[in-house]
Amino acid sequence: MSIVVETIESDERGLLVTCPHCGKPNRMNYERLGHAFRCGQCHDNLPPIGEPVEITSEPSFYALIGRSALTVVADFWAPWCGPCKMVAPELAKIASEGSGRWVVAEINTEELPGLAQRFGISAIPTMVLFKAGREIARQAGSLPAAGIRQLIQQAG
Ligand SMILES: [Zn+2]
Repeated sequence: MSIVVETIESDERGLLVTCPHCGKPNRMNYERLGHAFRCGQCHDNLPPIGEPVEITSEPSFYALIGRSALTVVADFWAPWCGPCKMVAPELAKIASEGSGRWVVAEINTEELPGLAQRFGISAIPTMVLFKAGREIARQAGSLPAAGIRQLIQQAG
C-alpha cells in the first residue's frame, strides 16, 4: 500500500506553483513566503502553500532554509524506509494546516545524500526545523500529526 502525497516543486529562488485559476506557473520567492501572492498572468490571489515541498537540489534547500520568512519543517526520508511512508501523510496534514505559517520540505536522502551528511542525519525519518537559517528543533523517528504540531509550537 502506498499513499501518494501531492508535492510542490522548488528551485533556488522560490516555490513553483500553478495558478488554480488560469494554469500559469508562478514562482513564490522564499523571502516573501507568508505574504499574499498574486498570479503574474490573471492577477488573482494564489492560495498559500498547503502541500509539502519537494527538494530537488542542495542549492534549493539552502536557499529555502536561509531565506524563507516562515519556519521550515524538513523531513529527511528514503524510499525504502517503512516509517517514512507512515509519516508522509501526517506531514501532508501539517503542510495543509500550516498554509502561511510554516513550510514542509521533503528531502529524499537517496537523491540528496550530501544534505543528509551535512545535517548529520543518522536515522530516518528525521525532522529538522529551521528558522532564519538556524536549526531550532530536531526529532528522529516518526510522529503523528499532533506530535509534529507540538514540535513546531514548542520550537516557537
Ligand atoms: Zn492566474
